[in-house]
Amino acid sequence: MIKENLEKIWEKIDKAALKSGRSKDDIVLVAVSKTFPVESIVEAIKYGQKIFGENRVQEALSKIEKLKEMKIDAQFHFIGHLQTNKVKYLKENFSIIQSVDRIELAKLINERAKKINYVQDILLQVNIAREPQKSGVLMEHFDDLLEYVVKCENLRLRGLMMIPPLEENPENNRVYFSRMRELFLDLKSKYDIKYLSMGMSDDFEIAIEEGSNMVRIGSAIFGKRK
Ligand SMILES: *Cc1c(COP(=O)(O)O)cnc(C)c1O
Repeated sequence: MIKENLEKIWEKIDKAALKSGRSKDDIVLVAVSKTFPVESIVEAIKYGQKIFGENRVQEALSKIEKLKEMKIDAQFHFIGHLQTNKVKYLKENFSIIQSVDRIELAKLINERAKKINYVQDILLQVNIAREPQKSGVLMEHFDDLLEYVVKCENLRLRGLMMIPPLEENPENNRVYFSRMRELFLDLKSKYDIKYLSMGMSDDFEIAIEEGSNMVRIGSAIFGKRK
């Protein structure tokens, strides 16, 4: 089913992109492979998928290791809440860490990258809907975090990420996607950034219509997670 699912999703991505004056070539698809075995990743790669999203460090590293042994190339983005005690396991495994949301975490990733001599691409995760239980920086702390990360020599800011509230009707989240686009455009006028990561299986078309250029899709590609 992965082949058919990817084809269907690309069709929908293209349609949504056209609505905002773009095409599917302007959108990056991150296939969220968390909880799925490495075999699913290998199959998706066979059908042209290149970037995968994982939300647990150890699970991701084990899959990355297996793919290396199989001599299969793939890129991984880290998209989950990153605990500070897991930063020490990072070793240039993730082409982007999408979930940087606090200075303490940025500081540790920067130190880690410096120690093993690479520059880590990151996105700042914004809690735009101010959900108390959710990760992501609140707007009142955004400027402090931004100012901090752009000074970190071993971090390279590439854009913004957000996870909207759980909603029966994703139309209700359109306003948050739109606010993120405004924040993104403002930032883009000052910094060399590229990605606005928003949109998942149930709302990626709306997110793209509102300006997303990176979607993170799991269940619509790989099926329901257990
Ligand atoms: C799980 C996850 C996704 C994908 O969710 P689906 O609804 O399965 O598409 C996207 N982004 C993040 C941060 C996730 O944790």
